[in-house]
Amino acid sequence: MGSPYDGLRSRFPSLPRLPSLTTPTAPIRSLGSIAPILLIALIGALALAGCGDGGGAVGDEASAPAASTSRAEGAGPVRNLVLITVDTLRADALGFMGNRSVQTPALDRLAAAGRAFSRAHAHNVVTLPSHTNILTGLYPFQHGVRNNGGFALGDDVPTLATVLSEEGFATGAVVGAFPLDSRFGLDHGFGLYDDDLGEGGQLFSYAQRPGTEVVEHGSRWWREHAGERRFLWMHLFDPHAPYEPPKAYAERAGNPYLGEVAAVDGALKPFLESFLDGREEPTLIVFTADHGEALGEHGERTHGFFAYEPTLAVPFVLWGPGIEPGRDERPARHVDILPTALDLLGVDPPPGIAGRSLSGSASQADKPVDTYFESMSPNLEYGAAPLRGVIRNGVKLVDVPVPELYDLESDPDELDNVIDARRQEARALYRALPEASAALPEAGEVSAEELERLRSLGYVGSSAARKESYGVEDDPKTLVALVGKLDDMTKAYGARQVDRAVELGWALIDERPSLTVAYEYLAKILLQENRLTEALRLLGRAEEEGASNDALRQQLGLTLVQAGRPGEAVEVLRRIDPEAADAETLSSLGLALASMGRMAEARQALERAVEIDPDSARSFEILSFVALQTGDADAARRYARQALELDAYRPDSWNNLAIAEYRAGNAPQAVEAWKRAATLDPRNLDVLYNLGVVAGEVGDATTARRALERFLAAAPPSGYEAEVARARQTLAGLGS
Ligand SMILES: [Zn+2]
Repeated sequence: MGSPYDGLRSRFPSLPRLPSLTTPTAPIRSLGSIAPILLIALIGALALAGCGDGGGAVGDEASAPAASTSRAEGAGPVRNLVLITVDTLRADALGFMGNRSVQTPALDRLAAAGRAFSRAHAHNVVTLPSHTNILTGLYPFQHGVRNNGGFALGDDVPTLATVLSEEGFATGAVVGAFPLDSRFGLDHGFGLYDDDLGEGGQLFSYAQRPGTEVVEHGSRWWREHAGERRFLWMHLFDPHAPYEPPKAYAERAGNPYLGEVAAVDGALKPFLESFLDGREEPTLIVFTADHGEALGEHGERTHGFFAYEPTLAVPFVLWGPGIEPGRDERPARHVDILPTALDLLGVDPPPGIAGRSLSGSASQADKPVDTYFESMSPNLEYGAAPLRGVIRNGVKLVDVPVPELYDLESDPDELDNVIDARRQEARALYRALPEASAALPEAGEVSAEELERLRSLGYVGSSAARKESYGVEDDPKTLVALVGKLDDMTKAYGARQVDRAVELGWALIDERPSLTVAYEYLAKILLQENRLTEALRLLGRAEEEGASNDALRQQLGLTLVQAGRPGEAVEVLRRIDPEAADAETLSSLGLALASMGRMAEARQALERAVEIDPDSARSFEILSFVALQTGDADAARRYARQALELDAYRPDSWNNLAIAEYRAGNAPQAVEAWKRAATLDPRNLDVLYNLGVVAGEVGDATTARRALERFLAAAPPSGYEAEVARARQTLAGLGS
């Protein structure tokens, strides 16, 4: 069978999943199409709006020592803490909160035996900031985490985990989705931080795992640490869109969203029962959601944009020794969780926290508290005006260019904006907005991989251009329609209505030419469809409209590579400020140079890239590619392994490794590596072909046959003539 690697097909390494989604072709053969998982991810991403959480203590509270000075009655007997957060769970979606359609018997039992707060609020409407509020007892403008992606909690900020681990507690966390990945800083202080979302072909399609798995891992950890004082946090992501509950749950609830909620209850049931039945040590259980879900109210489909009650109100239950059962009408806030829990555990809270302990009796007179809230994702992602607000005595102010004031007691659906009628009250609430919350957050870098994972969950995650001032045209109410249109566009694309999706994309750009994310999404579709000329026109327009960013510029460079114009690509990529050039840009430049055959320069750019970011799996992947092209199989193998150590789910790195192994005479290892590549990217023709031919060589007829049959079924009529012939020949040689 021919000399090793002659005839083996290799393609350029994958580009970062979102900003650049093409696989440049020239001069080496490549498929030029995006892996199918990317498409799934795109659809998933667009189908869901971002989650935004925010929270803040308002005004005086922020400065006042939060925890009550007198320790709660019953302090002492509480030995352990369990925090359960359910993502995207509306306060009114639970049986104990009055929902008659949903079945949540386990949580209803917890609430009946514990204290259920009927007026509890988050401070943000997206996952990461909201959980940061919960774990730190601080508002978002105090701890600095204002959105998913682009923000991480500083390691000097005390959290429930850092405080309790210093007190000698065993600390464990099991989280259900990527926005809470340890890279965002919530892992500090946890002995176990289980954010492993599993592997397999589903990678990136949804960066999440089921609640049953979270509870299983959490329960195991709990048992393993029996006898120690313990703090366990479990995060269940299931109710987050898409709503795909196990069938039985969906049918019983008559509604897929409520079906997800019921499934969460089912997942928690065995764990909660061991406490409710008295089989555990005295433990405080705190149950809440990071935010709710709009389900179409106020024109919002999911969450992360507005801060109306469907997304801002949350369920909140305290259960444990010393907790007086019953309803609690006091305003409860996420920032109150840390001081309440520490109070009941008999541990001093860190200084300067925003919340106060709720451990006292429900009927106990409580000084009036303000609930600060915000939604910064529309600002950071869509260029909308920042949204902040405050709730005091059941009256809610929303500070946006067209301000809103609602009386939640008489108008719980927030349909009647009374700002004009109640000016004085509004003015008082404006004054209650913490000054520090006005400073607009500066988003940090979001890597392409992070962006892709966030987008797989519906978070836009990109940084929109910042404006000096915001007017009516920037009000989130004006812009919410854009979110819907973006969603329509990706749904159309998901339904393979390509022309309609593209039309919607252009219409969106005509409507709001500054909307960077619209260019990004439309570019992704055009490139996936190989409509290069149109993609280049789009990317050029982004430059003209001032809506471009380095990611789009990088995309332009890569599209030029794919269009067979690597020279221009290098020019565009070199235009990105070299001082500011990140590893991503440099590795793209390396890719462009490699595609021109300028391997030495390519290697130089890539070596800079890994110097800046030694964790850039993509840079190592391209380096391995360059090494293959220059005939250095040893280096190719080393770089491919480095890439895979950083990220095992890179089909192109497995392909490069396989080629390198094959060239080094290790055909069986090569076959194993190609198998991994084919699992991760089952439609990659190069991989299927390589795997089939080499498996045939080493006598693995089953693998060879399966791979070559799949290759032949999918290979296009032109462009693969030689490979098709050889595949047929190999198949024939395998016998039947
Ligand atoms: Zn969330």
